[in-house]
Amino acid sequence: MTQQASPGFPQDHAAQTADVIVVGSGPAGSSAAFYLASAGLDVLVLEKSRFPREKVCGDGLTPRAVKALTAMGVPLPEGDGWLRNKGLRIIGGGGRIELAWPELSSYPGFGLVRTRLDFDEILARHAQKAGARLLEGVNVTGPLRDDRTGRVIGVTARETVDGETAEHIFRGRVVIAADGNSSRLSVAMGLRKRDDRPLGVAVRSYYTTPRHDDDYLEAWLDLWDGDNLLPGYGWIFGMGDGTSNVGLGLLNTSEAFGNIDYRVLLRKWLAGMPPEWGLTEENRTQPVRGSALPMGFNRTPHYTRGLLLAGDSGGMVNPFNGEGIAYAMEAGEIAARTVVQALARPSAAGIETVLQTYPRELKVAYGGYYTLGNSFVQMIGHPAFMRFATKHGVKRPYIMRFTMKLLGNLTEPRGGDATDRLLNALSKMTPAA
Ligand SMILES: Cc1cc2nc3c(=O)[nH]c(=O)nc-3n(C[C@H](O)[C@H](O)[C@H](O)COP(=O)(O)OP(=O)(O)OC[C@H]3O[C@@H](n4cnc5c(N)ncnc54)[C@H](O)[C@@H]3O)c2cc1C
Repeated sequence: MTQQASPGFPQDHAAQTADVIVVGSGPAGSSAAFYLASAGLDVLVLEKSRFPREKVCGDGLTPRAVKALTAMGVPLPEGDGWLRNKGLRIIGGGGRIELAWPELSSYPGFGLVRTRLDFDEILARHAQKAGARLLEGVNVTGPLRDDRTGRVIGVTARETVDGETAEHIFRGRVVIAADGNSSRLSVAMGLRKRDDRPLGVAVRSYYTTPRHDDDYLEAWLDLWDGDNLLPGYGWIFGMGDGTSNVGLGLLNTSEAFGNIDYRVLLRKWLAGMPPEWGLTEENRTQPVRGSALPMGFNRTPHYTRGLLLAGDSGGMVNPFNGEGIAYAMEAGEIAARTVVQALARPSAAGIETVLQTYPRELKVAYGGYYTLGNSFVQMIGHPAFMRFATKHGVKRPYIMRFTMKLLGNLTEPRGGDATDRLLNALSKMTPAA
């Protein structure tokens, strides 16, 4: 396949090779690219869309995500589009409780909200500033493989400019698939989603509402399908710009999962809200859009034949709470750290030895916790359990404080209070997902 002329596209051979090719410039890809470039590697990021671009999301960032942003040196000045929040408000089973984010030495005591329209571009530009080369509007069509070894040695891609389509080849010593939930690249390498791991589906839109500057993230556990309480939650996250991001997500462990019209469920749920909040069809500013949440390592292995998976491509969304941004960023950092060490080895065998540690690193970081999460998702798939937990849990602050640390994966890794120690021990004792 040869490259044809296309305006604005690098034509020289050098631009078509890099130490590392990163596919996708969401949180996982941009974080990986940032750390790789910061370590002095030549990294080329290929992104099929052009910034600014939308990504269907709740736009909520927990202290875990704030920590990942801070580690990359992303400026987070208050008032510059970043809206800070103090914690989580949980409503359900007739109860309502506000839980401040825990003050820990390991995580800041605040979260943030920012639209993905801005957020993803900020991260991508941050990686560029660190030295990563970013090509937008380049759709990766498949892996480029060594005929003899089957190893991934680059990617094929298509670019369309002004109606003209050009095919390209990009070569790299290592490739990172950060191409999201569908991960075409992983599928082309035979890595399909695992049926034994949870999957969520969520929809969201934006509404003009006086609640737009709420300083708590709000989660509603009362999502009903007839008499059945569904496993999932609805959210109202104020964006600080006159609108709130409002949506709901469900887990595939309930019988209702495949049979529910999510848009209808959203309308029904919002119909029960106080009228003064204005969460009505007339105040909806965007279409209702939905997407999948791949959880609990639902695509493995995370490394094979020169290809590393980071973020949604490797099913890294937290099964307890549906949070994916922090985990995508953290996995991007772990992938980059592994690749930097691997490429410093003089032999192919040495490189391979290091790359193969990547899945192990991920298991150490999240394996036990995700196994617990996968069991939790099975339990709340039973409407009776969900009803019991909501009815009795929300009214009891000590249970909810424990639950918040568990669901948010916000514990001190060492020491901490009794809750931290219990949760860490549970995660360590549980076999890794
Ligand atoms: C409705 C909804 C609400 C959510 N709410 C939250 C929330 O509030 N907080 C939270 O933390 N998480 C939330 N999540 C999860 C979160 O959105 C994801 O986990 C996160 O975006 C994963 O980041 P990523 O970089 O792995 O993938 P993505 O963000 O999906 O990025 C993948 C990138 O790859 C690009 N790409 C794809 N294919 C190709 C290709 N062939 N060639 C080149 N580029 C390609 C895409 O254009 C995209 O830019 C939500 C998800 C949904 C669906």
